[in-house]
Amino acid sequence: MVEPGPDGRFGDFGGRFVPEALVPACLELEEAFRTAWADPAFRGELDALLRDYAGRPSPLTEAVNLSERLGVRVLLKRDELNHTGSHKINNVLGQALLSRRMGKRRLVAETGAGQHGVATATAAALFSFDCVIYMGAVDVERQALNVFRMNLLGAEVRPVATGSRTLKDAVNEAMRDWVSSVETTHFCLGSVMGPHPYPWMVRELQRVIGREAAEQCRRMLDGGLPDVVVACVGGGSNAAGIFAGFVDAPVRLVGVQPEGGAAIGRGVPGVVHGSASMLLQDEHGQVLEASSISAGLDYPGVGPEHAHLGAEGRAEYPSVTDAEVLEAFALLARTEGIIPALEPAHALAWVVREAGRSIPKGATVVVNLCGRGDKDVAQVATLLAEHAPPS
Ligand SMILES: *Cc1c(COP(=O)(O)O)cnc(C)c1O
Repeated sequence: MVEPGPDGRFGDFGGRFVPEALVPACLELEEAFRTAWADPAFRGELDALLRDYAGRPSPLTEAVNLSERLGVRVLLKRDELNHTGSHKINNVLGQALLSRRMGKRRLVAETGAGQHGVATATAAALFSFDCVIYMGAVDVERQALNVFRMNLLGAEVRPVATGSRTLKDAVNEAMRDWVSSVETTHFCLGSVMGPHPYPWMVRELQRVIGREAAEQCRRMLDGGLPDVVVACVGGGSNAAGIFAGFVDAPVRLVGVQPEGGAAIGRGVPGVVHGSASMLLQDEHGQVLEASSISAGLDYPGVGPEHAHLGAEGRAEYPSVTDAEVLEAFALLARTEGIIPALEPAHALAWVVREAGRSIPKGATVVVNLCGRGDKDVAQVATLLAEHAPPS
């Protein structure tokens, strides 16, 4: 796997572009994580939490009906079965343990759709931490149920009314809080983005997905390896986690972006939220809004390691349309009895499109099913009604 240099760079991307006041906090965090990650006691405690609290390992399920339909062998990495319904809990449990080790008993986090906020509020409840979640005012309106969940879990949700009042503004506010409270507070960032050490640390905490999947493939497949590994990419943490299990092997890696948020492909190099990466911006360098039916992928940037893997040609980052996503969402429900979140439905949509084309017939494809669709069914019902032909 690609290791960032001492300055947190993945090739031309990454780094630590933060206000002076945050440099010591980033260095402290890096040192704390490096030490903890090398400590068998820390690793043992995290493994036990992942097993007994989050429900790991998640199965690798052969999608027999879908495979027959597409003419390629589809294996689903079932991270939607984790406690709280997505891969976010893997990262959050690790950061909560680390926070306790650093003597910080208050977590702040950003959230867009609310999944990372719910996961963070969950860990905070488990560890008896104070918890403040920053969420764009627009998202607070759109995701009322997740706001209620976070409140039930004992977290305070602070609506952010600046800028476009969505995820990128929530990240800014969470960082601002962290600057002013760093003695007592850990910033529990939800994806492989932000200043060093976050992109590296979050990937290491999500690596468990790839480690399990690689081991499951060794047991299930002749030859031990799939041909293709596919995941959706917002910031890129679920993709980075599963890619980590396969990047050193001859396996095609594909990170699928929403068409309205394809930072790799439509974006340009720039700096946002503390690191250099590819991002959507206008000719004046203003960060543009991403747009996607899945709030979890509605982010104008992408993690720096993905920008690097894309630039090197080691991974591909195609995009799919909202219509393709809705079709794949319904297809998995009907063929396999599994309702995916709209985010991993992007990964599935790419497989549906490419089966028999760039994915040869008979090839084996692992799809990271990183979240369940319960949160999305009401939205999909509305979207399908809008798209239904007039009767
Ligand atoms: C948050 C979320 C994402 C996007 O985040 P990544 O860091 O790109 O993984 C994707 N899928 C689900 C289910 C999510 O909750």
